[in-house]
Amino acid sequence: MKIAADLHIHSTLSPCGSLESTPRAIVEWALERHLDMIAVTDHNSVENALHASAYGALRGLSVICGMEAQTSEDVHLLCLLPNPRAAEAFYSRAYPFLPDVANNPDYFGDQVVVDIDDTIVRVEAKLLLNSLDLSIGALEDLVLEFGGFIIPSHVESPHSSLLANLGFLPPELVDCPLEISYCTSFSAAIAAHPELAGRRLLCNSDAHFLADIGRVYTVYDVDEATLASVYQAAQSGRYHVVRKEG
Ligand SMILES: [Zn+2]
Ligand SMILES: [Zn+2]
Repeated sequence: MKIAADLHIHSTLSPCGSLESTPRAIVEWALERHLDMIAVTDHNSVENALHASAYGALRGLSVICGMEAQTSEDVHLLCLLPNPRAAEAFYSRAYPFLPDVANNPDYFGDQVVVDIDDTIVRVEAKLLLNSLDLSIGALEDLVLEFGGFIIPSHVESPHSSLLANLGFLPPELVDCPLEISYCTSFSAAIAAHPELAGRRLLCNSDAHFLADIGRVYTVYDVDEATLASVYQAAQSGRYHVVRKEG
């Protein structure tokens, strides 16, 4: 079967995310865009992803609990957990590594956790757009401990990416599919970074606004509609990227 998946979506919990992007609204937009699977991946938090997953279960949409982690190397990695319980357990271990630096709402906006009824549950006080005190290797170990999967984000980007901040593709992530920014073609990325040739490259929307959800997504050829099957399809090249016009 084919699974149309957008595995990189920010909610209102991300400092840069739109206030309209509540878990409920994200799920409704994804359904309207005919996506089969999404991942909510806020910066250094899974809390709204948990609510989106609960609402997705009510509405028949597969919502993966994810998080766009920022490692101590200032590199962004999509961490995708197999189920909400694993995501909660993973997050309870990762959160203490977030520096105790307060968010400045006037600059970044409020970081709000919102439930499935669009009610604000709490406001995250620590600035989420910060580096965890976890290296790439330490974070990978933590994700694997909870049965999760890693897709390095926007690897060719000049900001917060493997190639910009680390300067190379580390051997421990050799089996990971790599995300290219939604606004870049694979050929342009490979021309700029020849080390990307031969790697599995895919695309997500990295949506910070509802209207951006599904602007780019990836269609995976899978045996079953699970995150593990989608990841295996990514690793073995059984997918294609779809870009929406306009
Ligand atoms: Zn990022
Ligand atoms: Zn992002």
